[in-house]
Amino acid sequence: MGETRKPSAVKLSVWQRIQLLVSGCCFLRWEKREGWKDYLPIYLVKCRRHGLFECHPHGYSGYFVCPKCLEEETKG
Ligand SMILES: [Zn+2]
Repeated sequence: MGETRKPSAVKLSVWQRIQLLVSGCCFLRWEKREGWKDYLPIYLVKCRRHGLFECHPHGYSGYFVCPKCLEEETKG
């Protein structure tokens, strides 16, 4: 009663929460998908506009792209 449900299904450890707060992203797991040469680290990233999303680092600098931000950009 009166409890707010958390939308995220991902359970975060204290350390991951701290990482999210400090750097805006935290490591989740290793994953291999089609077209990938090797396993890539999957991160939970915080978007200022859309909240949390899962992502792997892009490019050599390892930046993250929010899929919703990207969608809005390609639409407009
Ligand atoms: Zn976004």
